[in-house]
Amino acid sequence: MIMNIAIIGGGISGLSTAYYLIKKAKEKGKNIKITIFEKKDKLGGKVNTEYYNGFIIEKGPNGWLSSKEAPTKLAKELNLKIIEANKNAQKRYVFLNGKLIRIPEDPISFILSQVLSWKGKLRLALEPFIKPSNKEDETVAEFIIRRLGREALDKLLDPMIAGIFAGNPFRLSIRSAFPKVWELEKKYGSLIKGMLALKKQRKIEKASAGPTGNLLSLEKGLYEFITALENFLKESGVRIFLNSSLLPLEKREGKYILEDKNNNIEETFDRVILSCPAFAASKLVSNIDKRLSELLQEIKYTPIAVVACAFKKEDLYSAKGFKEGFGFLVPYKEKRNILGVLFDSLVFENRAPKGYVLLRIMLGGARKPELVLREKKEIVKIALNELKDILKLSKDPIFTRCYRYLRGIPHYELYHHKLVEEIFRLGKKYNLSFLSNAYAGVAFADCIKAAESLANEIL
Ligand SMILES: Cc1cc2nc3c(=O)[nH]c(=O)nc-3n(C[C@H](O)[C@H](O)[C@H](O)COP(=O)(O)OP(=O)(O)OC[C@H]3O[C@@H](n4cnc5c(N)ncnc54)[C@H](O)[C@@H]3O)c2cc1C
Repeated sequence: MIMNIAIIGGGISGLSTAYYLIKKAKEKGKNIKITIFEKKDKLGGKVNTEYYNGFIIEKGPNGWLSSKEAPTKLAKELNLKIIEANKNAQKRYVFLNGKLIRIPEDPISFILSQVLSWKGKLRLALEPFIKPSNKEDETVAEFIIRRLGREALDKLLDPMIAGIFAGNPFRLSIRSAFPKVWELEKKYGSLIKGMLALKKQRKIEKASAGPTGNLLSLEKGLYEFITALENFLKESGVRIFLNSSLLPLEKREGKYILEDKNNNIEETFDRVILSCPAFAASKLVSNIDKRLSELLQEIKYTPIAVVACAFKKEDLYSAKGFKEGFGFLVPYKEKRNILGVLFDSLVFENRAPKGYVLLRIMLGGARKPELVLREKKEIVKIALNELKDILKLSKDPIFTRCYRYLRGIPHYELYHHKLVEEIFRLGKKYNLSFLSNAYAGVAFADCIKAAESLANEIL
């Protein structure tokens, strides 16, 4: 018997789920038929690379950490060339009190660093003596202030949260947004003790598994993943419908009926995987279960804008405030419009032609969501004014690009884990699967990992 599966959403979550389903079905000798419905006119979702005059510009994600193995494994299986970040990219900065200060990477540089005051460093040193909490969840801010002190939150964690979630630490859940940190306290009673214990273990692992924690990407940008997956899926007989406009799902006699108005399709499926954002999934299941639909709607997203800009190398390097490295993050307390800046072509050299540098400025997020609603021209102006002010840069870029996401990154708020548990429980009841960055990890790598697990579960 053939299992007829529909996948709704052709981002990395949906495409990698289709890939693993085909792989597992072959391994297990099962018969499946897959159809992908994508709302837009191209696949990839947030993964989108623009090629412009020799520049490789990422509109969304630009890579993954080598400690997250799923994308590396997938890239190898698809015969894609992985590139590693430049050594200089290990230098990361935070913008504090008018200048870029290097974020300390080890205990010695931490003691010498100017990021925290002596008072802040002493407070942080008390961490192993702070009793663990037995609360079911806490906001990131509550957790960090309790364990590491307010200064560590304001100067180190807040900018990091802006960099990952474009989020608000006073609303994000520590348990869902940073599950590993949450577990460290549970397991070791202290973050510092836990990190020391893990470091010891890693030393042993390192001998066999190689180095971890470097930023990786693909030679021609992350969209290579999408093209390779699309080719593989088409060759494997997967049907892909773009510009899809699906009506809410209907269920009859145990099967789902999907009606795609734009593509003139009405078909029945045994199983539906919703790999679109939670708010889109909410609409699609509204006729199946009202409560499930409401729960999905509760997952909030933060808006984010990305301004890519290219400078002549000599112009950028002559700016007094500029420092070579990965880029910098801006804490909320600095009261700026931008969240941070990535020096893309200093991380991956081939992102700009020789003699030029490509940067990407992030704006908006939970701090200033209203910024993302402005005209692109205005967003570019705000971003450039701030960049020039921070780096003390007088020259203009040779070009700019602006990409806006009104619902860019899921914001895992307090008790997100309970919300997800309930969504998955109801999903199981109706033979529906939910898989996207809205549930168990916002990173690109998390989506690929979850896709493989889901394929295993289904087959
Ligand atoms: C600006 C930005 C920078 C980022 N940087 C990084 C980074 O450096 N590293 C990292 O790990 N992660 C990063 N991320 C996060 C990463 O991009 C995402 O986690 C990942 O791409 C999400 O993939 P997804 O398939 O779950 O969702 P999406 O990419 O959102 O894909 C969902 C798909 O569903 C489609 N869809 C929506 N509604 C419907 C419908 N009704 N019917 C059919 N299809 C529908 C959409 O069009 C879309 O194609 C970044 C995100 C943003 C926005």
